[in-house]
Amino acid sequence: MVIQHIAVIGAGTMGNGIAHVFAQHGFTVNLVDTAPMQLQKALQTIAHNLGRQVTKGTLSEAQKNQALANIVPFTNLAEGVQNVDLVVEAATENAGLKLQIFKQLDEAAPAHTILATNTSSISITKIAAATNRPGKVIGMHFMNPVPVMQLVEVINGYATEKAVTETIVALSKQVGKVPCVANDYPGFIANRILMPMLNEAIYSVYEGVAGVEAVDTIMKLGMAHPMGPLQLADFIGLDVCLSILRVLHEGFGNPKYAPCPLLVNMVAAGKLGVKSGEGFYVYTPGSKELVVSGQFG
Ligand code: NAD
Repeated sequence: MVIQHIAVIGAGTMGNGIAHVFAQHGFTVNLVDTAPMQLQKALQTIAHNLGRQVTKGTLSEAQKNQALANIVPFTNLAEGVQNVDLVVEAATENAGLKLQIFKQLDEAAPAHTILATNTSSISITKIAAATNRPGKVIGMHFMNPVPVMQLVEVINGYATEKAVTETIVALSKQVGKVPCVANDYPGFIANRILMPMLNEAIYSVYEGVAGVEAVDTIMKLGMAHPMGPLQLADFIGLDVCLSILRVLHEGFGNPKYAPCPLLVNMVAAGKLGVKSGEGFYVYTPGSKELVVSGQFG
């Protein structure tokens, strides 16, 4: 299957990165978001990030301008998916919303179009069942920040056709990524392994085994992790971590995935990490910069 024209649904953190990477590699990208402000912000972010690549010498000014010219913004989903070969959905992580979007995509996109989702945790099989083309639905899970991170987790739903998986694997390589294929079970691979580790780090603080900085330092210096698990949880968003743990807990029916009560409390209190300015650490508003380290000792 030849992919030339791509639509990216959702112009938030992930959507703008995904559009950036495809546009930089010569694909025409329809970037769709229902919020015009998000589209405007995404185009500014993409221009800024491409500009940084020019400064670093990894991209020429002409390549940057071509990449920007490859992206066309849309607020109407049906218009944005006309004549595309692939849709990558990166809208808000909400199962009801994604099922509704996939139903709309199935109605509006050409019959040959592959419908991929960047979901972190929602079942690909369930999303595929909202369409009349479950064989053409697949997970294409990029990592944040998309232009920097090499991995793409490719997730086969129950009905995903082999040719569709092969196309997404080839496309991932074409845009400089390393694809790894997984089957559709809760959390796939990345979050099934990562989230219990973050949860265990939170339990260690909750049970008073060690303070925030000690837990993070042990994992950084002892395990060569570039970032401690509690800071990483703040970066991902504590609400996001909680919702993925709930998917694992419910999906496997295994108490080992039960979210730590401290995580549940922090989310209830609106302490969501970087995005709210406070989580396990305190951040300068609107930035990832730490101002106070180590809550809870
Ligand atoms: P985000 O909140 O930054 O962006 C979501 C965007 O979707 C918003 O701009 C919103 O306006 C838009 N949107 C909502 N409803 C829409 C609709 N009906 N049509 C079009 N656009 C719509 O979210 P994000 O962090 O970019 O996450 C997007 C997806 O990527 C989620 O499924 C998430 O689980 C997944 N993901 C996120 C990360 C991460 O680190 N943030 C990593 C991997 C995967």
